[in-house]
Amino acid sequence: NAETLTRILTTIDGRGYGSYKQLTGSYDLGRCRLVVDRVQVDPFAPPSLMRLVVDPATAGLPADLLSDRPGYVATTDFLARAVATAAGALGEGVSIGTPGQEVLERTSVTVTDEGVEARLAVQLPAAGRRIRGRQAVRLLTEDLPRIAEAALVHASLDAAELRAHVALHRDQEALREQLAGRGLVAFIGDGAILPRRSGDSDLPLEQDAVPFRSPESLQVCFDLPSGGTVSGMGVPEGITVIVGGGYHGKSTLLRAIERGVFAHREGDGREWVITREDVASVRAEDGRSVAGVDISPFISGLPSGTDTTRFSTTNASGSTSQAASLVEAVEAGASALLIDEDTSATNFMIRDDRMRRLIPAEHEPITPFVQRIRPLHAERGVSTVLVAGGSGAFFDVADHVIALQEYVPRDVTARARALAEAAPQPASPVFGPTRARVPAAGTLRPAGKTKPASARGRDTIRYGREHIDLAALSQLVDAAQTTAIAHALDRLADLLDQAGPDGARPALDTAITALCARLDAEGLESLSPHRGHPGHLARPRPLEIHAAVNRYRGLRLAD
Ligand code: ADP
Ligand code: MG
Repeated sequence: NAETLTRILTTIDGRGYGSYKQLTGSYDLGRCRLVVDRVQVDPFAPPSLMRLVVDPATAGLPADLLSDRPGYVATTDFLARAVATAAGALGEGVSIGTPGQEVLERTSVTVTDEGVEARLAVQLPAAGRRIRGRQAVRLLTEDLPRIAEAALVHASLDAAELRAHVALHRDQEALREQLAGRGLVAFIGDGAILPRRSGDSDLPLEQDAVPFRSPESLQVCFDLPSGGTVSGMGVPEGITVIVGGGYHGKSTLLRAIERGVFAHREGDGREWVITREDVASVRAEDGRSVAGVDISPFISGLPSGTDTTRFSTTNASGSTSQAASLVEAVEAGASALLIDEDTSATNFMIRDDRMRRLIPAEHEPITPFVQRIRPLHAERGVSTVLVAGGSGAFFDVADHVIALQEYVPRDVTARARALAEAAPQPASPVFGPTRARVPAAGTLRPAGKTKPASARGRDTIRYGREHIDLAALSQLVDAAQTTAIAHALDRLADLLDQAGPDGARPALDTAITALCARLDAEGLESLSPHRGHPGHLARPRPLEIHAAVNRYRGLRLAD
């Protein structure tokens, strides 16, 4: 209990930091329990991991809030934000990970039959490398219980705000569920605020933001479980091209759709930008490695004689990287692709008439995307939403053309059609059947990898001696997702080496699907290698797990 804790801390006051190790254990602090799982070895190491637990009766959360998955995710998100606010008032010492604008499934707070549990990272106080025992007593026996009281007890929370947070999330996820049935890739609600405050901020632009307004021809309405309705623009399946002058808001619209795979919190401006969860952004990413990807629908007959049906490179060009990322996303199950001219390789996207005349087809290995975008939909059922302000070539293949003018969209499909020319289509299928990619035995167990994989911020995973660069994954939104992917890679290393009943080792897609099914059944924290405090994880999409494996430079496929 609190006395034990105080006694230990008084005894070790002034000693070397290592003596904090004695704290490991569980303490009854009255209305909450403190569990110290792992103590940092020195003041400069990653902070200590502790849990605050409030029993169900004390917490008093209404059961109906937690009765379904969206309700559970939104409630625990709300509690995590409340903990972050209460901890923030203390300064920098206590953290629960910082939830951003998205409402994600996280391990920061859980609610079980045992109670409500907040997983904290705590910086234990030090003077140089010496323990400041009395300061630690205040932190652990007064400050932490105060956080629990303020953030984990229903009576101290704004009950109406919590209920509204849950209702919004349930509405958002219900709308997402309806998109496929209505033949839509995404929905952008009327009144949405899409632009962000700055290039390095995810907060809404406050001044002079033009609210989104749907063109009449594309307007759709959704009834929500909470009883309301929302109207907005439905982005239909098929091929949608976004055009418009420079700086008129094309990329901003596409980026909002890209982020719409996650639900956004009240006040974000993108609450009603909802995208099917399996929609993938694809961009050029020169320099990335590629292992055994069939990019032959786009690139064949390279001067080196390289086989592009199983294309591998340690240093992809702009066009080959974009072709590989696109094929990988389709293999990972993407129902639609989002592509912006700003981040695309021009020679991957189009080739104009004069260039065709100068460089005959037999000397050009690339078949541009404009010729493959329709077969991709016809043969594989994959839609595309594309920003193309610089070329009218896509008019020939578009189902819908949306023009942005001063941030306001208009349906200009008819006018674009009038300017379109007949697009030559291939006589026979170009994509062929999907081929399962089976990683080689032990490919995720490199020599010299002794430690578990770990994340460095949002953009990098350390995997043995390698770094996996995830900077180009625009739908990876939180460092806690990167941490989860790092753990997922360690799990996949096991799964990929387990032969099925037929003796065959699993394909990458099969292994990732199995892993995600396990997360559904056992919870996100089952990814963590640690018992007790699992660390701060947020649920990644299968697409980003695929993307991380595919960017691992040690990846080899079985023959
Ligand atoms: P484009 O891709 O068409 O060149 P962007 O989407 O990059 O244009 O937008 C250009 C600028 O306009 C950005 O600074 C963006 O924040 C701002 N912007 C975009 N949409 C809006 C809007 N609805 N209201 C106000 N500003 C906007
Ligand atoms: Mg742009």
